[in-house]
Amino acid sequence: MNDENDTRQRRCPRLGGPVFFEYCRTSEENRGPCFKIVDCWWETFDIMAYISGNFSEEICRKLCQARPKPKVNHLLELIEAAKKRMADK
Ligand code: SF4
Repeated sequence: MNDENDTRQRRCPRLGGPVFFEYCRTSEENRGPCFKIVDCWWETFDIMAYISGNFSEEICRKLCQARPKPKVNHLLELIEAAKKRMADK
């Protein structure tokens, strides 16, 4: 396991206080990564490369699926749904 990012620190939205990356990569059952690790760290360093280089394919797939849609995509979907409702009236 590559630990060169372990001293990076940020505020944890789940705990409400600062955490080190070491906690994020080991906080779940069986010392696996937190499900929000991509969402929390993508702006800081290449978290996708870190994940693909340090975790199994199954964990990589789960973490990528857990990533929330960007807000703009969600807004566009809401707009499209509203347009469809208007057209159906
Ligand atoms: S990855 Fe998880 S533990 Fe780490 S800061 Fe984000 S929510 Fe907290």
